[in-house]
Amino acid sequence: MNRYDTIYDVMVIGAGFAGMAATLFAAERGLKVAQTGATGGIDFSTGFLDLMAVHPVAEGRYWDSPWDAIDAVIAEHPGHPYARLGKDRIRTAMNDFTSFLQSQKLEYMGHEDRNTPILTPAGTVKRTYRIPRTAWKGTEALRDKAPTLIVDFNGLKGFSGRQIVEMQHKEWPRLKAVRVDFPGSFGELYPEHMAWTLSSPDRCKELADSIAEHAKDVEYIGFPAVLGLNDPVRTVTLLEELTGKHVFEIPTLPPSITGPRLRATFDRGLAPKGVCTFSQKMVLEARRDEDGLFSFLIGVPGDARTVRAKNAILASGRFFGKGLRAERTGVVEPVFGIPVTQPEQRADWHHPHFFDKQGHAINMSGIEVNDSQQPLDAAGKVLHDNLYAAGAIQAHHDWMRMKCGAGIAIATAYRAVEVITEKNGE
Ligand SMILES: Cc1cc2nc3c(=O)[nH]c(=O)nc-3n(C[C@H](O)[C@H](O)[C@H](O)COP(=O)(O)OP(=O)(O)OC[C@H]3O[C@@H](n4cnc5c(N)ncnc54)[C@H](O)[C@@H]3O)c2cc1C
Repeated sequence: MNRYDTIYDVMVIGAGFAGMAATLFAAERGLKVAQTGATGGIDFSTGFLDLMAVHPVAEGRYWDSPWDAIDAVIAEHPGHPYARLGKDRIRTAMNDFTSFLQSQKLEYMGHEDRNTPILTPAGTVKRTYRIPRTAWKGTEALRDKAPTLIVDFNGLKGFSGRQIVEMQHKEWPRLKAVRVDFPGSFGELYPEHMAWTLSSPDRCKELADSIAEHAKDVEYIGFPAVLGLNDPVRTVTLLEELTGKHVFEIPTLPPSITGPRLRATFDRGLAPKGVCTFSQKMVLEARRDEDGLFSFLIGVPGDARTVRAKNAILASGRFFGKGLRAERTGVVEPVFGIPVTQPEQRADWHHPHFFDKQGHAINMSGIEVNDSQQPLDAAGKVLHDNLYAAGAIQAHHDWMRMKCGAGIAIATAYRAVEVITEKNGE
């Protein structure tokens, strides 16, 4: 049977955090999974896994405990996706997700019950739940305000050591920056090419030599996140040996190499689990047939094929991912035509001020689901008993301001797969 003749247990529509998580969890439970989707938020992410950090958004209040923050946000927004999940399940989902990444050499670190403050590429500090191991020493340097050198490179856009120092100089006087040439390269630099270059030990040695003079009096050295693509821990360890200092990465502005690292990790790790990936292909039409199975037309107009599945998980994101579309008359969900909860008037979508601290009402829009993550119609009834939705497409959260993007994506995907598996066993 070729991949178009197979009837899959689950079709995952989306290849962002939610789509990747749903695909992983389903494959690990032995389901036959197909996945479609193009570039998603995961490709642009800093690589930090946010669980819940800011509430209320209007005050910009950061929480040390993501679990307390979840309680607080649910009390104010009872429709928030976390309200339907339970903390134990959220915790298990996050652990399973990071265990998979670790098994693929992309190790994550963090405190069990605490968010960790970390530098952003803009030089500000945010709190997040899980951090790639290659960035972890940066949290220690920040905590201790230790003597630290930030290195950046002539020709690299989206990362400025000097900006980070300027943002931090009051609280962190022993932070300094230096700009050097990247080993063997002149002119404009691209993070992916730099990451490949630094997979070579000789290039790492050249880099270490070029900063040795500047790093004499520091304990830590921070680099933009270009320290290798497939095994960055190896590059970080080598640079630590060569410089005799603690080394850490800071993501560059999007697109940073941290996103492609995550995608490459899934590409490597999902195929051996039997996942059939229809990469960069979109679902153009979805139909539920008389036998209750779904038929999906996937591809591009003029070159599309049908794929059938017993269940579907819609993980198509919001506007950025194209899971929601803003039309003149309102916001629509284009694949299944699921009703979208949104402000009544278009004029209410945004506050007049773009940087309004409350955020914009349009960023709380999305589809309604029940506790089993099944989308609901306008009357509040389950649309199809074998259709589920995960991730940013769910209503009642503003992941960007609440800092809960990866957490919602991963935990809702986990719950959807859990329900499908339970039903499969019936
Ligand atoms: C620049 C940027 C940086 C971010 N950084 C972080 C971070 O550091 N930490 C964090 O926790 N979160 C971060 N996020 C947020 C996080 O990426 C989002 O919360 C998350 O993307 C939501 O995931 P999702 O999978 O629901 O949607 P998306 O990531 O938007 O993915 C949607 C997917 O659905 C696919 N799709 C849409 N329509 C169809 C269709 N018809 N057929 C097939 N596929 C379809 C898209 O191609 C895409 O693959 C960041 C997001 C952005 C944009």
